[in-house]
Amino acid sequence: MTALLSRDGTNFSLACDTCGQLVANLAPAMGTWQVAWSLFVEDGWRGAQRPTGPHACGRCATPRSLGMVEASFGRATPPGRGPQPVTWRELDGVTVVELPGTLQPATHARLHDLLAEDIRPTRHVVFDLSRLAAVDSALLAVLVAAHENAARHGRRICLAGGAERVTAALRMLSVEDLLPNFPDVPAALAWLTAAPPGNRQ
Ligand SMILES: [Zn+2]
Repeated sequence: MTALLSRDGTNFSLACDTCGQLVANLAPAMGTWQVAWSLFVEDGWRGAQRPTGPHACGRCATPRSLGMVEASFGRATPPGRGPQPVTWRELDGVTVVELPGTLQPATHARLHDLLAEDIRPTRHVVFDLSRLAAVDSALLAVLVAAHENAARHGRRICLAGGAERVTAALRMLSVEDLLPNFPDVPAALAWLTAAPPGNRQ
């Protein structure tokens, strides 16, 4: 990811995935990722429209194939605390993934692997965020990758029960349309199981 969320989720920085150049404290002047990125593009930055990148600064010009956060998921988990258990269940043919209240770093990689390998991409997925206090860059990278994977298979993902500080961070990073949030799991299921116009199956 290259739009790095601040620890409290109310500000963001832009990092070049190639050289690591960091432009910090963008929210006060730019408001949202969309506004910030349109200005950085004029400044020679290149890369994905999405805040998860990859992005490259004007000197580096060619973005890597993966953003730095997503690339880190492929590396071995460092010694220390292992991933927390992540539970998921099938409900009305939709996979519901329940996230714990706070995520340890290794859990992001575990979630990423789970979504890539274990959860069938042929199903819609709801991420139950009702216990989650805040969203961070790594979780956002996982969620956006999940959205892209689902979209490739003609499926959708959404969030349920996201707290105000979580949804505010999603709006700031201009991904609220990619990752729509519903008050609870039943509301999310209702949205997912109502096929979009022209795509009924
Ligand atoms: Zn660079």
